[in-house]
Amino acid sequence: MNLKEADKLYIANTYARFPVELVSGKGSLVYDETGKEYIDMGSGIGVNAFGIADDQWQEAVTAQLGKLQHMSNLYFTEPCVKLAELLCKKTGMKKVFFCNSGAEANEGMIKTARKYAAEHKGEEYFTIVTLVNSFHGRTITTLAATGQEHYHELFQPLTPGFVHAPANDLEAVKNAALQNKAGAVMIECIQGEGGVIALEKDFVQGLADFCKEEDILLLVDEVQTGNGRSGALYSYMNYNVQPDIVSTAKGLGGGLPLGAILFGEKTEFTLGAGDHGSTFGGNPVSCAGAVSVLERIDDALLAEVKKKSKYVFSAMEGTPGVEAVTGMGLMIGIKTVRPAAEVVKTCMEKGVLCLTAKDKVRLLPALNIPMELLEKAIGIIKESL
Ligand SMILES: *Cc1c(COP(=O)(O)O)cnc(C)c1O
Repeated sequence: MNLKEADKLYIANTYARFPVELVSGKGSLVYDETGKEYIDMGSGIGVNAFGIADDQWQEAVTAQLGKLQHMSNLYFTEPCVKLAELLCKKTGMKKVFFCNSGAEANEGMIKTARKYAAEHKGEEYFTIVTLVNSFHGRTITTLAATGQEHYHELFQPLTPGFVHAPANDLEAVKNAALQNKAGAVMIECIQGEGGVIALEKDFVQGLADFCKEEDILLLVDEVQTGNGRSGALYSYMNYNVQPDIVSTAKGLGGGLPLGAILFGEKTEFTLGAGDHGSTFGGNPVSCAGAVSVLERIDDALLAEVKKKSKYVFSAMEGTPGVEAVTGMGLMIGIKTVRPAAEVVKTCMEKGVLCLTAKDKVRLLPALNIPMELLEKAIGIIKESL
């Protein structure tokens, strides 16, 4: 039996995989089992922030691996404290909780919002408003938060206490929050799985003002948009707003499972001993890798991200076969005339790995993708339109 047959036999059928087996890589290049080379424009859905087998990240991870791979949160360990300090110093947030994935980070953020609302406003303020077309994860609660009905089918009943309001419609979100006694509003500043759509600046700022006035918590899901992806360290920074809680994951670990919840002034003491926990959360190896990632996301790197973003937008906008280019930083959606899945298939044949999001080709290359590789990949995508 070959690998593809064994995968089909033994792995649950939850993924429609592309027909390639990837075996190794370096930076933004990856190789399949036949030795064919691809330029990686997806970086494992925005996870490999500095590409594959990045030297600095690998050094940080292997050094920690040889010292202590895990001991549980019953004890103090250095890497998670270093990472939490770095996250707080770079964002101004006050405290961090570590978990292992985006959905888990959102679960913890939701739990915190519920407790804050119960303590500050009353237990009836458990509702959280999220946006139509959002994506917040695959657990029963984060599915309830996700504002896309097709993910909900056949998994009912989902966790109660979520209402969805249209993005960029401030009045609708305000009404939904007030009518439902919401304790929090949760947003992605750039909707990722929903089609790489940045929220409007006025909407996000108006929402932040409203939340502040009403003591409704502003929760920002930075699972995909965070850690340099948008051209800012966290995407909310592009909007000049101050969230009360931020969740993040994907790029944070640079390729190892790691999620984090960042608590602001209002919520830093909301969770107390025994309120939440995670066996693997704050794993020393993942955190050591994340420290090396976060230390490198500085102004110079963010300027590079913005420069490369500008290049992609100007190379694709107005190109025959392209209807629209959306997103921010190195989180880019391309609405193509040809179905996105077909464009992605042609790109793969020609040696470029891209993603899709709804009806768009989605690009999430490594933050440090070399300009020559980016240009080459964009050339191939253009040929595939
Ligand atoms: C990917 C993603 C999630 C879920 O993250 P997992 O690590 O797959 O659980 C949640 N929110 C957003 C915005 C995401 O892009």
